[in-house]
Parts: sequence; structure tokens; C-alpha cells
Amino acid sequence: LPVLAIVGRPNVGKSALVNRIIGRREAVVEDTPGVTRDRVNYKSEWNNRHFTIVDTGGWEPDAKGINASVAAQAEIAIDLADAVLFVVDATVGATSTDEHVVRLLRGTKKPVILVANKVDDARQEPQAAELWSLGLGEPWPVSAVHGRGVADLLDKVLTVLPEVSAVAKEEVGGPRRVAILGRPNVGKSSLLNKTAGEERVVVNEMAGTTRDPVDEQIELGGKFWRFVDTAGIRRRVNLSQGADFYATLRTSAALEKAEVAIVILDVSEPISVQDLKIVDLVLESGRALVLAFNKWDLLDDERRYTLEREIEQDLGHVAWAPRVNISAKTGRHMEKLVPALELALESWDTRIPTGKFNALLAELVAEHPHPVRGGKQPRILFGTQAASRPPTFVLFTTGFLDPQYRRFITRRLREIFGFEGSPINVNMRVRE
Ligand code: GDP
Repeated sequence: LPVLAIVGRPNVGKSALVNRIIGRREAVVEDTPGVTRDRVNYKSEWNNRHFTIVDTGGWEPDAKGINASVAAQAEIAIDLADAVLFVVDATVGATSTDEHVVRLLRGTKKPVILVANKVDDARQEPQAAELWSLGLGEPWPVSAVHGRGVADLLDKVLTVLPEVSAVAKEEVGGPRRVAILGRPNVGKSSLLNKTAGEERVVVNEMAGTTRDPVDEQIELGGKFWRFVDTAGIRRRVNLSQGADFYATLRTSAALEKAEVAIVILDVSEPISVQDLKIVDLVLESGRALVLAFNKWDLLDDERRYTLEREIEQDLGHVAWAPRVNISAKTGRHMEKLVPALELALESWDTRIPTGKFNALLAELVAEHPHPVRGGKQPRILFGTQAASRPPTFVLFTTGFLDPQYRRFITRRLREIFGFEGSPINVNMRVRE
């Protein structure tokens, strides 16, 4: 989906605007097991066009940190969004911080829409008009809290937002899109340099900005791959506050553009909460996953033993992800990365024909019928694969299936088809 990023200094009303745009949609409960975190990405829709909103302002810094924080927001938006909404408080007017953001946004060719917020009635419109002085074109007066002007703003957004994300357009036959993720110092840059260094690097002309290229195309195993947001890996941002938030934001935004993620873990250190959070973000994004255990050259027997224990304990829920044990330093097993990526993508793309799927469901039900609950036994009428990327199945049933029973079906589907490297979803529709 195309990505719309919302940027602005604290208190201008970014979150109110996001809530107004997504409206009731936030209440839509997704049929995915509970992953909780600070949300930054929201699916949204206007006039039957779907897009993702990235709220870059989830971290509210103190006065000292404001410039660094809005700079980080603007940078992420410029690199990873398809269009940017820059929100200013019309009742305050342009501050020096706003001007600072404008200077950053001027460097991009991506569409930027200037939103003059807190224009609660027509009498305040002249205040919005003063924002012409920022040089970002027409200010769009809105009241995020009351909803005034938001429909017109969204109409405008649709005129500048591409139908599909610029990268997704290349999808058919184009290079597959890979995100390299991991907390600082696990070896992301080293891995990138090792792969890019030995192979041919093509600077991406589609970056759409006058700054560093955002993505790189690298030939590996005889094929081109698009490594998304390599700019984010190469750039070392020094933020005294909110570093975790911006890392999460960047990871989420990169996942929007990617098809498969390589999550790098550093075997010389215990698996951390931060590592697991990154894995959760991948799961939530529905992208394919490869786990790369880096710095294998540093492993001794003792650590190797504790590592295996940690993997069992902390990464048991992604036991389906292919695992490569590498050293970006020595080059150990780097050649295993491409087959792992290919396997994960193949699983992610898989489509099981409906006939085959139903024959299999019948076998599973015969093998292990749903238990009788209160004199009733819910039946599975039929099933179908509703989507791929990742494989998503829908079971039409006569009643609610026990969670354990759904887990049984999911586990057996995995045992039968593998789906290595891809999450799968098994959803249910009850026919009354
Ligand atoms: P990033 O922050 O994830 O991009 O991590 P870097 O690629 O900058 O690596 C962080 C540090 O780990 C650097 O000092 C690297 O030289 C070192 N490093 C990266 N990969 C390996 C590896 O496979 N083995 C060893 N021993 N050190 C590594």
C-alpha cells in the first residue's frame, strides 16, 4: 500500500488528525494473535483507495529535543513515505521548528501537503493563509478535532498519493524487496557491505529524493534484490531521546516496502527484548522472515549452548523461519542467505488450490474431530485460501471453533505444506 506519513512538531494535533482520518477503522479487530506495541502504522481508506498512515510523532520530546525529533520524523518520512502531510498549528503560526522541518522537506521530490490545523471555524482561515509564507504551497485548513476540512484534505491527498507504492509498482518480475533489520550493532551495515561489496551495486534512480539513495539493488545468486531503506542502515543517527521510537518507526516503515525481512541477531549477546520486538513487528507486518545469527565467529561452546536454549525459549513462535548462522566479518555461510530468502518468499507466495485444501480439511477433521461443546459440535463447511503473501485461509463453520482446534489446523497445515519463512493465518467465518 502507498504510505502517507504525518510529520509535525509536538502538540500541533498529529494524533488527532490520524484518529480523524482512520475514524472507526481503528476499532476493527484483526484476527491475529495478540501482539501489543506502540502503534505507528494504520491502515486507512478514503473513496475506496487504501493506504497506510505512518504517524511519525508518537514520541513527544522535551523542548531541547524538539529539533532533533522532528528532523528524525522528516527524514523517515522523506525516505520511506510516498507522500507527506506536514501539520502546523495555525493558531500559533510557523515557529522556527516548523521552518527547520520545511528546510528538510524542501530536499524531497515527494509530494508534501501543508496542513493548517486547529482552524475550528471560518474566522480563523486568515491565520491558515499566513502559512503560505512557508513556501510549501497552499495551506489546507482543517480542524482535526471537529473534522472540518478533513474530507477536502483527503481528496487532495488522493490526487498526490500514487495508486500503489512506488516500489510495489515494480513488483511484477522486478527484484524482490528485502529489509535488513536488527538492533544497533548486530551487524546490519557489515552484512550489507559484505553483500554489496562483493557484488555489483546499482544505485537506485527511483529514490525520488536528492539525498542518498534510499534503497540499493544488489545482484546476489544471479538475481537482483532490492534492499529497502539501506539509507537507514548506513546513516548513523544520534538521538539522545526517543531513539527506540524512531528505530521502531523506521523498521515499521521499511517493512511496509519489503516482502521479506532478514532479522539479524548478534550471537555474542543474549537475545534481548529489543530483538523480540523487531520479530514482533515483522509478524505484525505479515512479511516473510529469515533469521540471521551473526558474529558466529565469536561463538564458543558454552555460549553456543545457552544460545540454543534462548532460541528455544524466545523464538519458539517463529520456529518456522529459516535460520542462517553467519559471520559478516569472515563471510561464513553468507551464501546461505539467498536460498533462505528464496524459500521464505516461495512460502509467502504459495497458493493452495481450493479442491486440494478442502480434501485436506476433510482428512484433518477425520483425524481429529472438533470436541462437542454443550451438546453441539461446530462443523467446518468448507475452506478456501483467501489470500497469499502471506497465505491466509478462511474456514466457513457452523459455530465458533475452539482456539486449540484452530491451532491444531494451523499446526497441521504447517506440517503438511511447510510454509518455511512465512507466517500463515487461519481465520474463521461462522455461518449462522
Ligand atoms: P549495525 O549497527 O547493525 O549496522 O552493526 P555494524 O555492521 O556496524 O556492526 C557493529 C560491530 O560489530 C562492528 O564493530 C562490526 O565490525 C562488528 N561485526 C559485525 N559483524 C560481525 C561478525 O560477523 N563478527 C564479528 N566478530 N564482528 C562483527
